[in-house]
Amino acid sequence: AKEAGRNTYRFFTEQINTDSLAHLRIAHSLRAAVRAREFALHYQPQIDLRTGALVGAEALIRWHHPEEGLVPPNDFIAIAEQTGLIVEIGDWVLREACRQAVAWQRAGLPPLVVAVNISAVQFRRGDFEQSVLTALSESGLAPRFLEIELTESVLLHDMEIMLSLINRLKDLGIKLAIDDFGTGYSSLSYLKKFKVDRLKIDQSFVRDIGRDPEDRAIVSAIVQMARALNLQSLAEGVETPAQLEFLRAQGCDEAQGYLYSKPMPPEAFEVFVRAMGDE
Ligand code: C2E
Ligand code: CA
Ligand code: CA
Ligand code: CA
Repeated sequence: AKEAGRNTYRFFTEQINTDSLAHLRIAHSLRAAVRAREFALHYQPQIDLRTGALVGAEALIRWHHPEEGLVPPNDFIAIAEQTGLIVEIGDWVLREACRQAVAWQRAGLPPLVVAVNISAVQFRRGDFEQSVLTALSESGLAPRFLEIELTESVLLHDMEIMLSLINRLKDLGIKLAIDDFGTGYSSLSYLKKFKVDRLKIDQSFVRDIGRDPEDRAIVSAIVQMARALNLQSLAEGVETPAQLEFLRAQGCDEAQGYLYSKPMPPEAFEVFVRAMGDE
């Protein structure tokens, strides 16, 4: 399966770059995928570094292509954005994540916040607020258990419009995380304007904590700034105990990464959570 995944990856990326016909073909099969419900969400645990408790789960989309096998999101999200299909796909992701969160609560899992990636195209489309309301009311999920992940660049465009949208979403009671924090624009003043709950420190900084003093300084600065602004800090892509050690020492609040678990299908995620409770 791993081999097939690799071939798939090459298959898609090479052709996207070289051949606009292939681009059309992927767009076409994406359209079919939406109809045939070929998508699934996998979930990656987010861990509180002080208590070791599970606090959340990031929902990450997977495409089970009937011929190509598992297609990773980096191979199709951009095309979904260009074709506008991301709106429909993104709506499905929101609804499915909310539905799953409620199903887990009903199954007796400790309540956790489910985090959903929102693409700029989806967010800026005008009826995003309505999509959130629909997902919440359909599922019955309390808004405080839903977090949306946005990148910095989404907020910095049309700041006033974004500000009022964010404020309305925050008034609903949902949470807001800045994804890939540190890789985007350098103006940090938006952190004062927007009611952000959490900064997700990009994995590119976390990766080289062990050997790159500059990455250490950046991570440390983000954690301190988050604390000063009363925001949660979460480190992404934590793979080693040494990285974890450093993050703990800096006072980083939460972590997510292969050290704990790769993203898992819902059934495996549930087993993981129950096993944590037994420890
Ligand atoms: P992201 O939001 O920055 O997600 C983090 C990516 O890092 C995920 O890749 C995750 O599987 C991977 N990851 C997690 N822990 C580790 C680790 O310890 N080491 C390493 N090397 N990687 C780790 P994935 O699932 O392939 O997703 C890639 C990107 O696709 C995401 O980046 C996000 O931008 C996008 N994406 C995923 N799901 C959705 C979705 O439902 N909607 C939208 N719009 N975008 C999505
Ligand atoms: Ca994310
Ligand atoms: Ca990220
Ligand atoms: Ca990313």
